[in-house]
Amino acid sequence: MTDIAANLAAVKDRIAVAARKAGRDPATVRLVAVSKRVEAERIVQAVAAGQRLFGENYLQEAQAKISRVNDLLACGAAGDGMETGAGDGVCWHFIGHLQSNKTKAAATDFAMVETVDRFKLAKALNRHAATAGRVLPVLVQVNVGGEAQKAGVAPEQAAELLRALAELPALRVLGLMTMPPMAEDPEESRPHFARLRQLSEEFAGQDLLGTHGPPVLSMGMSADFEVAVEEGANLVRVGTAIFGPR
Ligand SMILES: *Cc1c(COP(=O)(O)O)cnc(C)c1O
Repeated sequence: MTDIAANLAAVKDRIAVAARKAGRDPATVRLVAVSKRVEAERIVQAVAAGQRLFGENYLQEAQAKISRVNDLLACGAAGDGMETGAGDGVCWHFIGHLQSNKTKAAATDFAMVETVDRFKLAKALNRHAATAGRVLPVLVQVNVGGEAQKAGVAPEQAAELLRALAELPALRVLGLMTMPPMAEDPEESRPHFARLRQLSEEFAGQDLLGTHGPPVLSMGMSADFEVAVEEGANLVRVGTAIFGPR
């Protein structure tokens, strides 16, 4: 049995230490608990421990869990059979690869899509968000490592994509997201995280980002979130360190 509450507390402590080390306020770093391949009951344990932000990679799996978790919550996560009310406020981020012909659920069931990396995909999300009468917060995924097999727009093409996205009224581009190349040593990720932060500063200077508050920088996973926070991450996506190995 994984003690989800203890793991969550430990991850938050480590985030706080890394933030202070970098002279930042720990409260400026948000934690996305990545719950892919984690069953709804264990997600509810994380909710009971105070976690409200979750990330999912696969649409069908996520939709089943979103409704299940929301049902369980509505039925009383406290175990008293009473409804717990709207204050629960569980938010889901989509963090997986999306095909542009399968974007409806992503645009309607999620609080944010972190993996927009091409205009065709953005246009489809924009259309579904508009139909649903909402403005969908999104991040642009950047392939900072330049890996051929990895999703994400090339750093050199990111500005052009941001300019195009600004024309889509039902999307609100809040920042950048990245997944650096797999590495043994978290220090190997540091230059990639630094690069994403530099890009976001550059884009903010061109008014391509930052018009809705400080740009969101989603970077860092179980193996390297402390390095990411030291390099400016304000959103970290952590799965294994919370829920155990998948
Ligand atoms: C799985 C995943 C994570 C979390 O990875 P862990 O190593 O389990 O913390 C973060 N971001 C994305 C995009 C993922 O797919």
